[in-house]
Amino acid sequence: MPAAMVFRRSSWIVAAAFAAVSAGACGHDSARPSAPVNASSSAAAAAAAPAQIAIPPSDVAPPAAQTGGFDGAKAYDQVAKLVAFGPHPPATDAIHAVQNYIHSQLQSFGCAFDDDDFNAQTGIGNLAMKNIVAKIPGTGQGIILLLTHYDTKRVDNFVGAEDGGSSTGLMLEMARNLCGRPKQANSVWIVFLDGEETQAQFTWVTSDSVYGSRELAARMSVAGDLKRVRAVILADMVGQYGLRILRDSDAPKWLNDTISNTAARLGYQSVFVSQETSTEDDTLPFIERHVPAIDLIDLNDYINLGYWHTAQDTLDKISPRSLAIVGHVILESVNALQLKFP
Ligand SMILES: [Zn+2]
Repeated sequence: MPAAMVFRRSSWIVAAAFAAVSAGACGHDSARPSAPVNASSSAAAAAAAPAQIAIPPSDVAPPAAQTGGFDGAKAYDQVAKLVAFGPHPPATDAIHAVQNYIHSQLQSFGCAFDDDDFNAQTGIGNLAMKNIVAKIPGTGQGIILLLTHYDTKRVDNFVGAEDGGSSTGLMLEMARNLCGRPKQANSVWIVFLDGEETQAQFTWVTSDSVYGSRELAARMSVAGDLKRVRAVILADMVGQYGLRILRDSDAPKWLNDTISNTAARLGYQSVFVSQETSTEDDTLPFIERHVPAIDLIDLNDYINLGYWHTAQDTLDKISPRSLAIVGHVILESVNALQLKFP
């Protein structure tokens, strides 16, 4: 994979520019080139025996003490658990099992949480969906929102290790870290969103996607909570090998800088890079309501590798070190936001 990474860089920026016009997070309708050489084990092996996936030494998670207490190995284990539920698109038995799993984990971490059950009129009919909102109270009125989607794309044999699993495993580990910490100024809500993926067809359709985040933004608006939100940080596709996260041209400069400066301070400039991209994703309903929101995503690399929205989006594509780095940056960025909004 490293050789492919170097080769892809130049053309990849061009792809990112086009993404500004046409991408959906999980919805870029580009032709997918065949996958380059991949050193990881086969998808079949991954599904059969995730514990036996060999992780290259360079991608083993650093000890949690080196990443602010965020444990990349634990985040990876969470991704493995989520993948083991199999495909879990909205309103299926499998996603109900995933919801129960998220509940059980939040309970074990001592996190308070609410369920928001709602119905979405989708391209394939009315679907029951559920957002799960973990709430870490603060001393003041402000809220920092951390988002992930946990539904998987409605594609045969698609388990979504990177697309849905990586960010959800990361946010479970984030909850383990943040729940029970001493109160800071702002509340932190970690929201596990349903219904991000386009339901009726393979290609991205804005009007048939981001159901969970639309529900969250609308509900928070009605409740008067939306004006309390200081920043939204969305993670989506953040666990792959060779991860590169670009700045988000739809996010305010100050919020991009909060992430970039934090990453640079921690020595992760090779992961959080200076190029920009734009992606339709769960940030959209917040952007439309003028709430500062940033999308941390590496979509184009995964498209170029040929794994995106395919049955090859499996656990062997996930690097514990990538999860650790993004978790560390989000954790420290939340701390920076706590200081910025006292
Ligand atoms: Zn997707």
